[in-house]
Amino acid sequence: MMQKKVIILGGGVAGLSAAHELIERGFSVEVYEAKTIPGGKARSIPVPDTGTIGPAGKRKDLPGEHGFRFFPRFYKHVVDTMRRIPYGSGTVADNLVDTTRVEMARFGQKSLVLPSHSPRSFSDIREILDEFSTVFGPDFGIPPEEMAFFASRIWQIITSCEERRVDEYEKEDWWDFMGAHSRSSAYQKFFGHGITRSLVAAKAHLASTKTIGDIFVQLLFDLVEPGPSSDRLLNGPTNDVWIDPWLKYLTQKGVAYHLEAKVKAIQCGNGLIQSATIEKGGKTFEVRGDYFIAAIPIERMAQLVTPQIEKLDPGLGKLHGLSVGGVSWMNGIQLYLTEDVPITHGHTIYVDSPWALTSISQRQFWPDIDFTEYADGRIQGIISVDISEWDEKGLNGKPRSSVPAKK
Ligand SMILES: Cc1cc2nc3c(=O)[nH]c(=O)nc-3n(C[C@H](O)[C@H](O)[C@H](O)COP(=O)(O)OP(=O)(O)OC[C@H]3O[C@@H](n4cnc5c(N)ncnc54)[C@H](O)[C@@H]3O)c2cc1C
Repeated sequence: MMQKKVIILGGGVAGLSAAHELIERGFSVEVYEAKTIPGGKARSIPVPDTGTIGPAGKRKDLPGEHGFRFFPRFYKHVVDTMRRIPYGSGTVADNLVDTTRVEMARFGQKSLVLPSHSPRSFSDIREILDEFSTVFGPDFGIPPEEMAFFASRIWQIITSCEERRVDEYEKEDWWDFMGAHSRSSAYQKFFGHGITRSLVAAKAHLASTKTIGDIFVQLLFDLVEPGPSSDRLLNGPTNDVWIDPWLKYLTQKGVAYHLEAKVKAIQCGNGLIQSATIEKGGKTFEVRGDYFIAAIPIERMAQLVTPQIEKLDPGLGKLHGLSVGGVSWMNGIQLYLTEDVPITHGHTIYVDSPWALTSISQRQFWPDIDFTEYADGRIQGIISVDISEWDEKGLNGKPRSSVPAKK
């Protein structure tokens, strides 16, 4: 039988995952990726021209990332894929490391620090009990009846059947379901925005109760169920310990992965997608396949959906509407320090920050990375910050989007 060819548009985690599954099932696979670095939004972005000459030759550029990578314990598929990517004598999944704490930092008030796994010792239990007194104390700002209401809503999600999740919760936004509009600002901050914007960069007014509820409940179970941490990170720069070994494995298996190859158009005929127009190195050419997979962001895909494609599948016409109001900016910034500042052994969520900041102090999770090999050799620590809200005014009175940023 002739081998079927699949053309994958976009070489981020989705494109790489599709390539992985298909090449292992005997398809011929070609991936077309617009950027110079593989991995899409998960890619590392070294800071160009920052590596200086050291005693052992030229040092590496500063290890920039699009944002830090957080792998909750409930992630199943991505970790399964990682277990199938060779790395040294093991696999890429061995590069996941547990955090032990999660911190909720509050402006001008004591932070809340909790274990990010189920209690393993008396001191863990004590820590949790200590923080309970803060949560139910006077300065926290959420009245007991609102706490009880939140608990009842979460209990309702936990005890709802799949049909109800799909039929009802999928159609109701988190903000409404949580009754946030009529509750205290502390309630709105922690249970409205905190669970959506800070945790998963979603908007409480738009995100469905099903999606946010499912994520939150799984995180909650991960926190109480004995076992590994609810929150894991990579033990080095993302491309070094995940994406590059992945691409190497896929290429060895026969995947043709093309960088700097941008999809400009998609052509159809006879009721099927026939080809994609690719621009690479100033030249334009057509690629044909038996199947096409679009693994590019919704706002990019919307630009490629022509009236002809829309006629074949009217559902694809909805991408235009979704891409206009449905996507928002999220990006990371790295602070390179000449002195390491571990902060906490896990993520910090800055619950009061209008820009919805979360951070990780990276070095404690990169034990085998020699920091003297980077830049001018003086870097001792990295604080990696994710910014999930770009339009709200910050404490300096400016929205994050008023500061020019590179896409
Ligand atoms: C700052 C930040 C932090 C994040 N942190 C986490 C986290 O901690 N944990 C987590 O699970 N998720 C996190 N995410 C989300 C996660 O990174 C994404 O869900 C995931 O990377 C999306 O992968 P994707 O392949 O679907 O899309 P993308 O990564 O967007 O990949 C699409 C690819 O298509 C390419 N492309 C676009 N247009 C074209 C074109 N015309 N032709 C060819 N190629 C094209 C793009 O260059 C890109 O490489 C984070 C996201 C951001 C932005």
